Amino acid sequence: MERVDLVIRAKYVITMSNPSVIEDGAVAIDNGLIRAVGRASDVLSNYRGEEFISRDRHILMPGLVDAHTHTQQVLLRSFINDNRLALPPIWTRLLIPFEELLTDDLAYLSSLVSVAAMAKNGITYFIEAGAPRPRELVKAIDEVGIRGVVTPSTFNVRDGQVIDAEEVLRRVEELLPEVNDRVRVWCSIRQLMMVTEDLLLKAKDLCLSRGLGITYHLGEYQGEVDYSLTRYGVRPLEVMDRLGLTLIRPTVIAHAVYLSNRERTIVRERGLGIAWCPTVDSLVMGPHWLPMFSDMLFGFGSDGGAFTTLDLLHEVKVARAVGKALTVGMTYDKSSFNSITMLRALTGWGGLLIGDNVGVIAEGFKADLITLRLDDARALPIHDPVESVISFLDGHHVTDTLVGGRFIVRDGRLVGINEDYIIERLYAVMPSISEKLNGVKYGIP
Ligand SMILES: [Zn+2]
Repeated sequence: MERVDLVIRAKYVITMSNPSVIEDGAVAIDNGLIRAVGRASDVLSNYRGEEFISRDRHILMPGLVDAHTHTQQVLLRSFINDNRLALPPIWTRLLIPFEELLTDDLAYLSSLVSVAAMAKNGITYFIEAGAPRPRELVKAIDEVGIRGVVTPSTFNVRDGQVIDAEEVLRRVEELLPEVNDRVRVWCSIRQLMMVTEDLLLKAKDLCLSRGLGITYHLGEYQGEVDYSLTRYGVRPLEVMDRLGLTLIRPTVIAHAVYLSNRERTIVRERGLGIAWCPTVDSLVMGPHWLPMFSDMLFGFGSDGGAFTTLDLLHEVKVARAVGKALTVGMTYDKSSFNSITMLRALTGWGGLLIGDNVGVIAEGFKADLITLRLDDARALPIHDPVESVISFLDGHHVTDTLVGGRFIVRDGRLVGINEDYIIERLYAVMPSISEKLNGVKYGIP
């Protein structure tokens, strides 16, 4: 009998490997990694955990990966009404002016709210699209215990003013000492329209020389495509390809709603990842069609708490409905956007999307796991656990979230931080946030 740190038994284990579902299964975890997975009778006769927990009416599965989020925009929640949503483009008119209002304290509180909500929703790994105050995010990651890719908000053109590219990118280098088992640092690019060619080339050099990944917003706005054609003579992703940024691994492109066939070929041939943000793409941009092609590496993004509840199990339901509406409308083919593909996208394709060994319950993978309770009249009965996750369960069903074999949510409660404290802080700052927001001009004369 081998001793391990933890053994978890569950009614269903969705492994994302073969077999994909084990009924009455168990997982043995040691040193932050999966040691074994299989039928409970086999695992329990070979492994004794320092701790053993049984989740008799639960699904145990890999943690979810949020491929695109803005952890420091959450204080905008419920401020973006229809008029504000329609601002063209919303990022320069509203989102960036808002980010500039943040103090360290508010950025820290935002980060904490976001990562706490993610953890409760079963997200174990996320990619920040560009935080105005990334060190505050690192502190929040540390307290909650989640894994995250931290990137500083990166642009060097604003209102016609150009900032030195090296100065901007120094913020990435300054973050590198923060890297540890749970904090990764990548480069980010806010938008092609907000950076110089010089910055793009220097960001590429930084990523390739330091082995960093990159994430950027692209193909999200028709004005951006027009800008790119006017400024560079080619479309946005062709610019990135021409300048060599598509050599960076991992690359995660947020939105990518407006891609030409040629840009789609670049995504496929270079093995780039796409972050599909079902709610925000639908509200602001257009229906997402890329994942229609089975050769596309994509994940789901919440696009931050300003727009969503940071619940990817909700996002996947939106995605499937929008995706099927699109393909049925075009081809009357109802087989696309099937549940197992959606589940792979939710869990990051076995780490391919994010470049880490997560997303599969198999020996040697990181023990980033969640359990979902099956004791709810809104979600029962259950004939197929995969269909249940995709169609009936959401963040409210998450009971436990483990990162590296450590509980960060246990029995539905955050372990590292007191949620009541976060709520009290939010109530305390809300009046001053409203006042600040109402003072922003949103670039409207
Ligand atoms: Zn975004």
